[in-house]
Amino acid sequence: MSVTPEVAPSEDASSAAPASSSAPAFDVEAVRAQFPALQQEVHPGKPLVYLDSAATALKPQVVIDAVTEAYAKDCANVHRAVHALSQRATAKFEGARDSVRRFLNAEKREEIIFVRGCTEGINLVAQSWGRANLGPGDEILLTELEHHSNIVPWQLVAEEKGAKVVVVPMTDAGEITVEAFRAKLSERTKLAAFTHVSNALGTILPVAELTRLAHDAGAKVLVDGAQGVVHQRVDVRALDADFYVFSGHKLYAPSGIGVLYGKEALLEAMPPWQGGGDMIDRVTFEGSSWNDLPYKYEAGTPAIAQAIGLGAAIEWLEGLDWDGMIAHETAVLEHGAARLGELERLTLRGTAPEKASVLGFTLEGIHPTDAGTILDAQGVAIRTGHHCAQPVMDHFGVTATARASLGVYNTNEDIDALVSGLKKVESMFG
Ligand code: PLP
Repeated sequence: MSVTPEVAPSEDASSAAPASSSAPAFDVEAVRAQFPALQQEVHPGKPLVYLDSAATALKPQVVIDAVTEAYAKDCANVHRAVHALSQRATAKFEGARDSVRRFLNAEKREEIIFVRGCTEGINLVAQSWGRANLGPGDEILLTELEHHSNIVPWQLVAEEKGAKVVVVPMTDAGEITVEAFRAKLSERTKLAAFTHVSNALGTILPVAELTRLAHDAGAKVLVDGAQGVVHQRVDVRALDADFYVFSGHKLYAPSGIGVLYGKEALLEAMPPWQGGGDMIDRVTFEGSSWNDLPYKYEAGTPAIAQAIGLGAAIEWLEGLDWDGMIAHETAVLEHGAARLGELERLTLRGTAPEKASVLGFTLEGIHPTDAGTILDAQGVAIRTGHHCAQPVMDHFGVTATARASLGVYNTNEDIDALVSGLKKVESMFG
């Protein structure tokens, strides 16, 4: 398994995120010490083994402190008032936008739109760009691997505009091949929307190549980065996708905040999707005009403390040795795949050679929820269910899988605790 970055950071040193080579070597124990949630027993004598970071990541103390300070000291609305608290809150909120720009290596801060999360970012593009640009017979190209958040918004707009959703099938290993993608592109494809990393299977998609192919066919590209931005170094300029979306809460930041990156020219041309305060330039009863980017898409009071928390999470991540972190996560993932192979009833779901973070599996004759409940009693937290990826479940002919997913803090010992818990599960089912 490899988690080699798909997209190399840009050569433009003036704007690229700080090089991780200057950070101290990756030390997982030092990282773990910064996560208060890891310092607890979930049941008597059972310390937490957290293997559900694909659902949401734990938060380091610096992020918790940043959010606390935003409410304890700088509690004010942003952009509107001249008083000191509002000035401080605005500076931190807009500072977080600058951190996101640097982290993604976007060219301009105007291209960074704060949204509630990945789901809202995709809905924004579907409702704004999609309603303005899609018509009868136009095609929206998705993959079989997508999360429901990257399926349903397109179905809604396709139904309204008479457009069609076309799906690239995956292989039984959970891969989207370049050939399969190319075969589904047509002159009617107006937009291709695909995930960077599958949340159900962990497959890393060849997003740069898929983006090139879609652009060659004249289509726009949206990349769902919910799982990608956490485990890969993303450079939106090198990737060249038109839109890239992610959620803060999977990136060690608070929930309620996420990012839509969009190319400036597209964001300029698109209509606003929600109306209200902050997104306007001038309002009369005869009509209204819109604020400049990025505010045109940020109607109403934003998630201020959450955005400040996201800025803190990004600064914290920038201080880590990313090469070391990726190597560590890869080693734990490989250890996991090898050790899960010891279990007689277990079938690994998602065996693509390019994978990050996720170990999905089923156990013959045992419902994933039963396994998850027994594991919880051992202090091991995993996810069970369809993972908001029912087409992936359908592919395998199951309604649910169990999923262990890794974050920056996981170790081989966490995997070993999972495997001994699963051996107990197997023994309980005879
Ligand atoms: N896309 C992928 C690949 C995801 O894993 C998720 C969440 O699990 C989402 C989209 C939706 O993210 P959110 O619920 O934070 O909006």
